[in-house]
Amino acid sequence: MDSKNLTINIAHLYPKLLNIYGDWGNVLTVKKRCEWRNIDVNIDSINIGDAIDIKKYDFYFIGGGQDQQQIAVSKELQKHKASLQDARDENAVFLAICGGYQLLGHYYLPHEGDRLEGISLLDAYTIAGDKRFIGNVTAECSFIDPSSLVGFENHSGLTYLQNDTEPLAYVKTGSGNNGADKTEGATYKNVFGTYLHGSFLPKNPHFADYLISLALHKRYKEKIELSLLDDTFENKAHEALINKKY
Ligand code: GLN
Repeated sequence: MDSKNLTINIAHLYPKLLNIYGDWGNVLTVKKRCEWRNIDVNIDSINIGDAIDIKKYDFYFIGGGQDQQQIAVSKELQKHKASLQDARDENAVFLAICGGYQLLGHYYLPHEGDRLEGISLLDAYTIAGDKRFIGNVTAECSFIDPSSLVGFENHSGLTYLQNDTEPLAYVKTGSGNNGADKTEGATYKNVFGTYLHGSFLPKNPHFADYLISLALHKRYKEKIELSLLDDTFENKAHEALINKKY
């Protein structure tokens, strides 16, 4: 299929509230890596009170944020829980970072206040821990090539995965989901959660392309080969974290 006729529609969920550490850079990465291949990208910011037309979107992104912002988004997401579960079951791609990731599970229980309900796209739950995990992370993901993923974590939440929800990766350096079971992030169907800020995708171009391929497959119901890009700078950034002495 000729790439100049391809399109991806992205819903950026609650960017005014969940966009800590420049997480919107993940949306920018998907946009640029598509445009460099003459694939059109439409991005809608979905804010509090906005409708979400799941028939329109191929790719959903939600960034990270502090507990306060998560409270507002948790409440708003409940209005869209059933339709976003339908979107997941229709193979839409979701990328969720840290606080946004926690809200795609069943719940996030902060140190203070009520439990924040999630939308159960992932069979996972999060409870606030006593320690903050802050620092660079390198991890190994079994279903991409190269298998390495790198980023920066800053969270106190401890996330535990259940049943069919698998880890995105296993940490080599850093803490990941809970600093104990060596898992980092989560995946189920085309839903991907991670604690890796940075932004995540600019330093992991191979994973960005993996997600773009999934979103195109969801929209066009066929596997579409992506043309190669010159990832010299992206790979230098990736390697710098891999080779850093921790
Ligand atoms: N408030 C959550 C935590 O501390 C998420 C933080 C974040 O998104 N960086 O675990």
